[in-house]
Amino acid sequence: MYDCIIIGSGPAGMTAALYMCRENYKIALITGTEIFGSLGKISCIENFPGIESIQGYNLALKMYEQLDKFENLTKHEFLNAVSFEKRNNEFFVELSDGYVINGKSLIISVGGKHKTLGLKNEEKYFGKGISFCATCDGPFYKNKNVAIIGGGNSAMDFALSLSKYCKNIDIIHRRNEFRADITMINKVSKLKNVNFILNSNAIDILTDKNSKFNGLKIKNNDNNSIKTLNYDGCFYALGFEKNEINEKNAENNKHENIFYAGDCIDEKYKQVITACGDGCKAALDCILYLKNKNINI
Ligand code: NAP
Repeated sequence: MYDCIIIGSGPAGMTAALYMCRENYKIALITGTEIFGSLGKISCIENFPGIESIQGYNLALKMYEQLDKFENLTKHEFLNAVSFEKRNNEFFVELSDGYVINGKSLIISVGGKHKTLGLKNEEKYFGKGISFCATCDGPFYKNKNVAIIGGGNSAMDFALSLSKYCKNIDIIHRRNEFRADITMINKVSKLKNVNFILNSNAIDILTDKNSKFNGLKIKNNDNNSIKTLNYDGCFYALGFEKNEINEKNAENNKHENIFYAGDCIDEKYKQVITACGDGCKAALDCILYLKNKNINI
């Protein structure tokens, strides 16, 4: 029986684990198959205080390794939490390997999933021409032409990463103004192999005679003109939707011993630092709950 089960090991979950472990509580950390969440896929972070510049994966690894010294922590690595159920004020969490673990409290920090465009046959091309991670898939596009769709910090981050490999990159954004930070936009604007296609939407996937991805049909939102552009690959940087976890036999959806943290509850900020802050707050609330219930270590 764990004092707390933390579901998700992005920055929110890992910060929560750090705070809970330092109080000596018995903790389970369920990492999910994408062990560091979206943090692991950011190519360059320059707005985490105290660290000038770091790859998302390396920052996540530092957080993860910081937890290694705690003997009161059990990591359930590369497993997802499928569902949870509450019985007699305890939680039973079913893992993707079929095991069920139980705990006195839950911290849910399951992050988000990538948004998509919903184009015809789109799903068929995920991993086969359409990618969600420039850090992971960039090297496959050496000297190739690619498109990035989106206008936020992820789109800029992808461009910075892909510009090292690709011949030509078009950032296709639906509005005239980017959502990304000015610092990121300025950096990308200086890259010689990156072009902006603004006020435009991708409306269809183009394929060759063997049904292989080879481009996009783009509509200009100003004048409704349509053009076809050939690309070897396309990167979606469309933001995230919240992940949810299935609660079996839910009696109500408000529990005094469930605490939420990070992108799965964040409507607005979605920063690494705010996810860490959320994780800290969730852990402090959870510790208070355990102490009030006289669940001492
Ligand atoms: P985001 O900020 O939500 O941006 C998503 C972009 O995709 C927006 O420009 C949006 O257009 C566009 N979009 C969404 N749905 C679309 C659709 N159906 N068709 C066409 N365009 C669509 O997401 P993000 O860039 O992934 O960033 C998420 C959070 O992580 C942000 O808070 C960001 O600051 C942070 N982040 C930080 C870093 C870093 O610091 N290095 C790197 C990556 C992400 P509109 O602008 O018109 O809505």
